[in-house]
Amino acid sequence: MPSIEKLLSTIKQINPDADTDMVRLAYEFAATAHKDQKRASGEPYIIHPLATAQTLAEMKLDTNIIIAGLLHDIHEDTPVTLEEIAKNFGEEASSMVAGVTKLGHIKYRGVERYIENLRKMFVAMANDVRVIIIKFADRLHNLKTLEHLPEAKRYRIALESLEIFAPIANRLGMGDMKGQLEDLSFKYIKPEDYARVSEIARKKYEESKHLLEKMRKQTEAELIKAGIKVVSFHGRIKFLYSLYKKLLRHNNDINKIYDLVAMRVIVEDVGDCYAALGVIHKLWRPLKGRIKDYMAQPKPNGYQSLHTTVFGLEGQITEFQIRTLKMHEEAEFGIAAHWNYDENGSTIPDKKLTWVKELASLQKEMMQEVKDLEGLKLDVFQGRIFVFTPKGDVIDLPEDSTPVDFAYSIHTEVGNKCVGARINDQLFSLDTRLKSGDVLEIITDKNRKGPSTDWLKFVKTSQARNRIKSYAKQSIAGWFKTKILPEKMFKKES
Ligand code: MN
Repeated sequence: MPSIEKLLSTIKQINPDADTDMVRLAYEFAATAHKDQKRASGEPYIIHPLATAQTLAEMKLDTNIIIAGLLHDIHEDTPVTLEEIAKNFGEEASSMVAGVTKLGHIKYRGVERYIENLRKMFVAMANDVRVIIIKFADRLHNLKTLEHLPEAKRYRIALESLEIFAPIANRLGMGDMKGQLEDLSFKYIKPEDYARVSEIARKKYEESKHLLEKMRKQTEAELIKAGIKVVSFHGRIKFLYSLYKKLLRHNNDINKIYDLVAMRVIVEDVGDCYAALGVIHKLWRPLKGRIKDYMAQPKPNGYQSLHTTVFGLEGQITEFQIRTLKMHEEAEFGIAAHWNYDENGSTIPDKKLTWVKELASLQKEMMQEVKDLEGLKLDVFQGRIFVFTPKGDVIDLPEDSTPVDFAYSIHTEVGNKCVGARINDQLFSLDTRLKSGDVLEIITDKNRKGPSTDWLKFVKTSQARNRIKSYAKQSIAGWFKTKILPEKMFKKES
């Protein structure tokens, strides 16, 4: 059961210097705003934002995000305005709440909506990835309390979580979040398979747990003897949905799954990781071709670790995963690990820019995955690109858009006065075709009279087209009035 005391103590545990007064105030503010509302379960509504904030705190995120987590449903469900939130808790918290609200109730209704949802998620992510992290935490609690909702709604939310949220969490390297989203949804999407796989896992785990515990002790003793400082050494049970998918690939034979329980060894530095691998291989004979060095070659989502599978006690085939604490936290929390409390000195725009670069490739890869799904119509999403301002704000444009389209989507005056563009720090002409992920700075000249009608030959957005035309109309009329007509009239008369 979540509570404000539990939340505050989690924050203090992770960061003794955290300013928890503001968190308590945000809680009181949210509790007052939601005081007449109840969850479908009949519980007071505040339980939900508290659970959301608790998840964020456990991901070691900073208090700003935790505060936004507490306030995330206020704007949507109560009369409290964003201005009030900003006044009490600052612009950052308020803009995150706005982002979560905007993302709002995305609903899974067939392919078109699916693609539209993905697009919304990308726009929101590009604007501020913290919005997605809050949305994940929000969704996690909604999934945990799904049994209180009507069946059709349950299915829709579970499917959306499985098909949209979990893959994005995965791409953001948030392994723990992805696993939880999948397992909670799995239960509602394929209840029979869920029951079957849980039973297989439970039985196998019961059979092997004493052996594994013995192996763990023996291995730990050897590591210590070798002078390796073990930060943590524990067994982790594979997430059920991921086990289900693996079982499908192995004819449902649980004996072919070597990582149902993996031994996780956390050590201090990279040197110790390789040293630990040596100790483990000396103690247990490794299986051929099962040593994976994700440190030298990280997975595409950034995952780093050493994996090896060995013949253990009584021939028990067991996987070991070795990594540093930092790598471990990044594997569990992914992108969220970049936002945690101890990342001092790095300002938010910096983080945003790094993130923007990552996002461009993320979007490309995910779109390829979407294209690979059969029978998808891509009209909504295909043909859209995401371009960024130097501050990292995202502008969503049609394919083949130019700096002029970008300029007009920022502001009419920026469009009217633009004279050039710096794309990824290089100068380009105004008719250059933009690509997803470009970071764009528009160069304006305040003395420029207005847009050129030549631009109509290359602009893609109707916004830019309309602005250019309407400016041209205005100025032709004006020009006639002020220049041509009087002069001609004057000449005629003279
Ligand atoms: Mn919520």
